[in-house]
Amino acid sequence: MKIDEAREVRTTCPYCGVGCGVLAKVAADGEITVRGDPDHPANFGRLCSKGSALAETIDLDGRLLYPEIHGRRTGWDEALDLVASTFSRTIAEHGSDAVAFYVSGQLLTEDYYVANKLMKGFIGSANIDTNSRLCMASSVAGHRRAFGSDTVPGSYEDLELADLIVLVGSNLAWCHPVLYQRIAAAREKRPEMKVVLIDPRRTMTSDLADMHLAIAPDGDVALFTGLLAYLGKNDALDRAYIAAHTTGFEGATTASALDLAGIAAATGLGEDELVRFYSLFAATAKTVTVYSQGVNQSSSGTDKVNAIINCHLATGRIGKPGTGPFSVTGQPNAMGGREVGGLANMLAAHMEIENPEHRGRVQRFWSAPAIAEKPGLKAVEMFQAVADGRIRALWIMATNPVDSMPDADAVEAAIKACPFVVVSDVLAMTDTVRHAHVRLPAAAWGEKDGSVTNSERRISRQRAFLPVPGEARADWWIIAEVAKRMGIAEAFSYASPAAIFAEHAALSAFENDGARDFDIGAYAGVDAETYEELAPFQWPAPASPSPSRGGSARALSEAKQAGRGGVRGASPPPPRLSRLAAQSSLADPPLKGEGIRFFANGGYYTPDRKARFIAIHPTAHNRTSPDYPLILNTGRVRDHWHTMTRTGKSQRLSQHMAEPFVEIHPADAQHFGIGDADIVRVSTVHGEVLVRALVTARQRSGSIFVPMHWTDQFSARARVDALVAPITDAISGQPASKNIAARVERF
Ligand code: SF4
Repeated sequence: MKIDEAREVRTTCPYCGVGCGVLAKVAADGEITVRGDPDHPANFGRLCSKGSALAETIDLDGRLLYPEIHGRRTGWDEALDLVASTFSRTIAEHGSDAVAFYVSGQLLTEDYYVANKLMKGFIGSANIDTNSRLCMASSVAGHRRAFGSDTVPGSYEDLELADLIVLVGSNLAWCHPVLYQRIAAAREKRPEMKVVLIDPRRTMTSDLADMHLAIAPDGDVALFTGLLAYLGKNDALDRAYIAAHTTGFEGATTASALDLAGIAAATGLGEDELVRFYSLFAATAKTVTVYSQGVNQSSSGTDKVNAIINCHLATGRIGKPGTGPFSVTGQPNAMGGREVGGLANMLAAHMEIENPEHRGRVQRFWSAPAIAEKPGLKAVEMFQAVADGRIRALWIMATNPVDSMPDADAVEAAIKACPFVVVSDVLAMTDTVRHAHVRLPAAAWGEKDGSVTNSERRISRQRAFLPVPGEARADWWIIAEVAKRMGIAEAFSYASPAAIFAEHAALSAFENDGARDFDIGAYAGVDAETYEELAPFQWPAPASPSPSRGGSARALSEAKQAGRGGVRGASPPPPRLSRLAAQSSLADPPLKGEGIRFFANGGYYTPDRKARFIAIHPTAHNRTSPDYPLILNTGRVRDHWHTMTRTGKSQRLSQHMAEPFVEIHPADAQHFGIGDADIVRVSTVHGEVLVRALVTARQRSGSIFVPMHWTDQFSARARVDALVAPITDAISGQPASKNIAARVERF
C-alpha cells in the first residue's frame, strides 16, 4: 500500500484486550512516533508503558523476510505449492482430521475468518484452535451456558459508572493498565466508589482496592456460590428479574450448600472478611465484577465464570449502566477470533458447530462442499494428537506454542516429530519457527490492515503505516493462496481485507432475523472506502455504517415485551419501549447518545429466551503433595508481552523487570532456605526453571508466582510453561495455568 508520510494513521495497539487507539506517524527521516488516540473510546488518548514503547519494538532485526523450505530461501510459489500439495495429500491419505491449524489472538479478524473458512468449510475438519484458548475459553463457555451466546454484556464506561468494582483474578494495573487508569480517574471524581480485589497475591492493583481478599487459589467458586446464598438469606435478590428473565434459580441456590465456616475454609479467608465483602456486594446496586485469568485459567474456570454470573442475574445487575459481569480478555483480537469461529468448537458469526441449523446456514452461505460436522481438537488436545501421530500436517500462525503451551517440552517434542510443520510468523527464529519445515514471512503490526475486537465488543481498524519489508505478506493472503493451490479458487479470491470484512458481515446477517447476538450485518458488502474510514463501533452494530463511533453500549439489556429486539445506534427507543423503560429499572437513558441493545426477540439467546442459572458445586483443588508442597501461579508483568518477541527489543521495557523471578512469601523462603535474590530451581513433575528469588509478603504463604514471559532465548532455563501441567477445564478446554503443584530449592 502507499504510505502517506505526512499523516498520522489511526490504528490500534497490538497487545492487550483493552484495544487502545493509537496514532502512528513516520517522519521524513524515518523516525516513528506513536501516541494514544484521543478520539478512541477505549482509551481517549491514554497508553500504558507497552503501548507507549511500540515505536521501539519496530525494526527488521530478526525478521523473517522470505519464504524458506528447510531453512533454504525460496520463492512464494514453491513454498505455497509445497504447503498446498502436502496438506492435500495428507487429507487424501489420512482424512481431513489429520491436518490442523493452530492460530492466534494476534491475527486480525480477516485473517482468522479466512483460516476458519478454509478449515471448517472446505477441508471439512474443525481442527483449528487458537492460543486464545489459553486466555478466555472459560468465559466463552460460561457466557454460552448462561446467556445462550458468547456475549459480554457491558462497556468500559460501566467501570466508571459503577459504585462497586469487584476485580477477580485480575492484576488490572499491569495486565489491562488503561482500564485501571480509567477506574482510578473515575474514583478521583467519585471517591465513594469502592474497589474489592480478589487475588492470592497483593499486586499493584491493590493500591486501588478498599479491600483485598487474598483468596486461596481456585477458591473462587466457593466464594461466589457463598455470595449467592448470602444474597438469598439477606433479602438482596431482584425477584422480579429472576422471575421474568431467568431459569434454574432454585437449583443454583441449593448447590450453594457451604455455610460461612465452610466457605472460609475453602477460600482461606476469614469469616469477617467474607461478611464484609458479601454485605458490600448486597448493598451496592451498581456493581461490575471484572474477571480475568485467575478465573479463566483453571480446571474449574467455566464454573467460576457462572458462579459470578449467577450473582449478577440474581440481583438483576446486568445490561444496565454501571453493572454486569465483565470478562477482560488478554489479547488484542481474542474477541474477533471468537466472532469468526477461531475456536475449534465454534462456527463463524457465533454459530455453533453442534447445531445442524447453524451448520446448514454457514454451509449455504459459503457454498461449502465439506462443512465440519463436529467440534475439532482444542489446543491441548491438538498437540497431544500431533504427538501421537493423529495429526500429520500442522500449520502454526502468529504464535509460539513451544514456549507458551502447557507442558511445553512435550509440545516441542510433538512439533519436532510431526511429519510436516508450517509456521507463518514475523520472526525468523522463535523456539517454534526453528522446527518448521516451511517458514512463511508474515506482515507485522504497522504493516498489515484489518480489524480487531476488544473486550467491550468494540471493532476497530488496525491500519498499516509502514511498507511491508522483503517478501512478507498478509496472513489472509497466504491462507487464500494455499486454498487456491488446493483447488479452491473462487471462494478465496479476495482482493483485500475490506472484501473479507464485507463477507464476514454478510454472514452475520445471513438468514438472520435478528435473533443472534453477533450482528454486524449493516456492514455486509461494505466498500473499500467505507472500510478504510471505519470508526470504532460496538456490536450489535449500528443500523448503517456510521462515520462516527456508534453501536450498542450494552447488550442483554432489559426491555419488557420488547418483541423483536435490536434498537441500535443513536436512535432513541420507540415510544412504547421508552415508557416501559421509564417504569422499570431501565430509567437510565442511553449514554453519550449511543443506543441500548434490548433483548433480541424479548430475551436472552437461549431457546426460552431466559438466562440460565447454573448449579455449581464447589470442589477442592489441592494438588500439592509432600514432594511438591507449594502452589505455582503464572502470570504477566507490567512491561512484557507473551514470549517477549516484541517487548524484548525495547531496553526501556526490559528495565522494569530485568530477569525472571519467583515471588515467595518470607515464611516459605525461610522454610526452604532461600534468601532474597538467590537463584532458585522451581520444579514440577513436568519440568524446571531457574529464576531469581523475590522474597515478599505480597505473596500468599504456600503459593509462589513466576512470570510467563521469559524463554530460553532471554534467560537460560526460564520457560515457565515447561512447568505447567496440561490439565484443562472439562467444559471449556482451557488449560489451568495456575494452581500447579511445585517445589523450590536454592540452586
Ligand atoms: Fe496496549 Fe493494552 Fe496498554 Fe492499551 S492497555 S496501550 S491496548 S497494552
